[in-house]
Amino acid sequence: MESDEVTPGGVPAALTERVDAHRLCMRGTYAPPIRCVALEADIGRHSRCTIHPNRPSVCREVDASWEFGRPSPQCDKARLAYGLPVLTPADWVDVAEAGHTTPEPLAPK
Ligand code: SF4
Repeated sequence: MESDEVTPGGVPAALTERVDAHRLCMRGTYAPPIRCVALEADIGRHSRCTIHPNRPSVCREVDASWEFGRPSPQCDKARLAYGLPVLTPADWVDVAEAGHTTPEPLAPK
């Protein structure tokens, strides 16, 4: 993980914990109950990463399904584990119409 102690724009070091001599992880993700310290969420209603622009590369590699026009098996698996339906293209608002800089899923129906 890329801590801002060594990588400008990296993950805030205060939000990480050491896994071993060479690796860090997000606080709250090393042992159960798993809950990333940067996650602000009421699962099934809303969620957001509070450090989205500075999130670690391992998080950047997992898109939400259809966020960029393609499904994400990891996203689908995580949602199904929490009893949530997988996202579909219809779950995304028109970015320009909503005035957002990034896609955002619609609120639950
Ligand atoms: S995307 Fe953000 S909230 Fe989710 S695990 Fe990564 S750092 Fe934590």
